[in-house]
Amino acid sequence: MKVILLTGASSGIGYNTAQHLVEEGYTVYGAARRTDKMPAGVKPVKLDITDEASINACIEEVMNKEGRIDVLINNAGYGSYGAIEDITIEEAKRQLEVNLFGLANLTKQVLPIMRTQKSGTIINISSMGGRVSTLFGGWYHASKYALEGFSDCLRMEVAEFGIDVVLIEPGGVKTDWGIIAADHLAESSKGGAYEKQALKTSASMKRQYSSNMLSNPNIIAKTIAKAIKSRRPKTRYLIGFGAKPIVFMKTILPDRVYDKIMRNM
Ligand code: NDP
Repeated sequence: MKVILLTGASSGIGYNTAQHLVEEGYTVYGAARRTDKMPAGVKPVKLDITDEASINACIEEVMNKEGRIDVLINNAGYGSYGAIEDITIEEAKRQLEVNLFGLANLTKQVLPIMRTQKSGTIINISSMGGRVSTLFGGWYHASKYALEGFSDCLRMEVAEFGIDVVLIEPGGVKTDWGIIAADHLAESSKGGAYEKQALKTSASMKRQYSSNMLSNPNIIAKTIAKAIKSRRPKTRYLIGFGAKPIVFMKTILPDRVYDKIMRNM
């Protein structure tokens, strides 16, 4: 059975995916900082994606035990919401460090292993936010739009080595993500010019992420499992609450009309 390394397995989409893949019989290494939060059957590995030594130690641990990595699922991430004027460049760099450069660093370490095996699948958890923008999501979208370009280029580069690259683009999924993003937004806007609008948006995000309107993370877990099983997976899976209609809306509407709708949502 395939050996899978999955980041962000301590919560939300990663947690449910790890659990689902274990149930399907895969050997799953779940990586995160909170290794005590993994579902049963997952092999926990300590990982801070922003720390190169931690990335190296994580890969070394999996390779020492299994000698191979068939699937890498790059899922760890968060939403640094806040007005661009309010977010410090230090925080913006941290957003890109977690959602893009850390992911890239881990991927770079796994590629030689997959090249030697002459096979492998890299699954990058992007977002519908890699194709559309939302109010106060500047740095989050910068990280996910970048991840889309990065993944499309990587897929072309590694095809000749038998390695495939797949993007998962979730819509709204009920996890801690929205609460963390809403807290970032409220916190970063304190006392500033955007505070009123930011607090309104933050409260609305919290309402959404506390309701049952959004998709269950299991839907994303099943899509990831489908991509792993498929002999020829799709290059991108747009899935979950709002994803298809919002991306469609962005494609057909003039930018200013789209902006107006999103500002009022
Ligand atoms: P959660 O907040 O529930 O989970 C985030 C995971 O990322 C945690 O397991 C956390 O682990 C891990 N993580 C965060 N920072 C680091 C770090 N520095 N090093 C290692 N791991 C880290 O959110 P989701 O499950 O919703 O998010 C998973 C992915 O899905 C993200 O990339 C997100 O952007 C994307 N997504 C989510 C959507 C949603 O609506 N929920 C929509 C579209 C995309 P720990 O803190 O233990 O290290």
